[in-house]
Amino acid sequence: ARAKILISSCLLGHKVRYDGGDKYMASPLLEKWQAEDRLVPVCPEMVGGLPAPRPAAEIRTGDGEDVLREQAQVFDAQGTDHTEAFIRGAERALTLARENGCQYAILTEYSPSCGSAQIYNGQFDGTRRQGKGVTAALLEQHGIQVYSSENFQDLQKELDI
Ligand code: SF4
Repeated sequence: ARAKILISSCLLGHKVRYDGGDKYMASPLLEKWQAEDRLVPVCPEMVGGLPAPRPAAEIRTGDGEDVLREQAQVFDAQGTDHTEAFIRGAERALTLARENGCQYAILTEYSPSCGSAQIYNGQFDGTRRQGKGVTAALLEQHGIQVYSSENFQDLQKELDI
């Protein structure tokens, strides 16, 4: 069977981002995988119950792994706590990945849900730092190989084997 890939739906042009827009990534590779019916799109924040548009959110004092350990929380700039929706979204993304047999994921870098190498620092000052988003952390904890919008080309080698 063809390996399936969970993918952040904003990368495919779905208008699901906090600002009501998308993060469409033009890529022949993604088009090929879509034509091969490998892609399973999800927006963790939308399936977690948040609307689009919504206030931008960042993880304060930690990253997605800390959120899952209940040692960090997700806030918007006004100080509203969105942790529950972010965890629910991550769990629903994991369920969808399992239902579809996805061994791989391609997630949007820098997002507090989907970032897998870097996220924002929680101060809303535009500074990035090392760390994973909540969904990336949960998927990796369950053995799914997470690639990002920055390095997903590397996944091609895995699929060619
Ligand atoms: Fe894109 Fe993920 Fe943010 Fe949804 S949660 S808009 S899929 S980066």
